[in-house]
Amino acid sequence: FAKKVTPIPKAKYGGRHAVTMLPGGGIGPELMGYVKEVFRYGGVPVDFETVQIDPKSDSNEDLEYAITSIRRNGVAIKGNIETKSLDTDVISRNVALRNELDLFVNVVHCQSCPGIKARQKDIDIIIIRQNTEGEYAMLEHESVHGVVESMKVVTEENSERLARYAFDYCRLHGRKKVTTVHKANIMKLSDGLFLEVSKRVAKEYPDIQHDAMIIDNTCMQLVANPHQFDVMLTTNLYGSIVSNVICGLLGGAGLLSGRNYGDHYAVFEPGTRNTGTAIAGKNIANPIAMLNASVDMLEHLGHDSHAEVIRTAINKTISEDHIHTPDLGGQATSIDVVQNIIKHVQALSKKCQIV
Ligand code: ADP
Ligand code: MG
Repeated sequence: FAKKVTPIPKAKYGGRHAVTMLPGGGIGPELMGYVKEVFRYGGVPVDFETVQIDPKSDSNEDLEYAITSIRRNGVAIKGNIETKSLDTDVISRNVALRNELDLFVNVVHCQSCPGIKARQKDIDIIIIRQNTEGEYAMLEHESVHGVVESMKVVTEENSERLARYAFDYCRLHGRKKVTTVHKANIMKLSDGLFLEVSKRVAKEYPDIQHDAMIIDNTCMQLVANPHQFDVMLTTNLYGSIVSNVICGLLGGAGLLSGRNYGDHYAVFEPGTRNTGTAIAGKNIANPIAMLNASVDMLEHLGHDSHAEVIRTAINKTISEDHIHTPDLGGQATSIDVVQNIIKHVQALSKKCQIV
């Protein structure tokens, strides 16, 4: 969507795109290896500039280099970056990266996948989440011993551009309803502002329905009757909660991708942003979420035929061949899944004559 309304700089040399790759920690590096393999077999004209960020470092030099690289390339794919410094002044690098690049919106398309045993069927919900402020302001301090304060920052400007993004998204993608998710009954000023702004913006879009729901009830409604939702407009923390609830309903953390956009840059990653420390290096992580993120990235870059081939190969592997990793109740290894996808990519590429 962002690419249609704003000019996004993309590094393109000799017909090939340069993209920043941030593997991060846990399962990130192995998943990036699979993305590279699939791209190689698909003949995808993308070159990765890989930047490793040392989780234990107190210096932000690696992070600054990563940000410079994304500014140059315009586009990145990332795993979850860990921050293990003992220095409490070193803030979360994932948050810092989104803030520095002003990636104000996170979009997670939560769609059921045929062939996967899930708690709910036929779900198709778009989450549009504030991505740079709210509960993630990281302004915490101990005012006196034993008393800690944490600030939640909501601005009219960011609430408004997020709301506009949501309603424009509806028009562009034929969606009918936006639900603002909030807790304005308790946080009257902060969530109150977020809610008020969304109501005001909604008036400019009479063709799109608008309603609002308190986060607690939203979680209950999601579990009981998720089909009532179309597009959800949320603050930062509620967006994280809601996307995790829906991913749980659809088949877990290993499937869905998430997209982060600002006016200038786009960053693609798995939808629930997990590190997966406990399953790293065991050949059991589900590669699908990161591969879906790589397909989103190809669509963003305009490599539509390559994107189509890889998306079809992924869907055939999950829904027709039923090659599933343990998180989906299957026996397959990560590599089994990737090899099956590559087999389809090779066959489909031949048919489409794109390699
Ligand atoms: P966090 O980033 O908060 O540490 P975790 O890494 O603990 O999150 O992930 C939450 C859960 O989701 C864990 O049980 C983890 O094993 C699972 N998970 C996350 N990503 C994947 C994946 N790609 N494949 C399979 N399971 C995954
Ligand atoms: Mg964990």
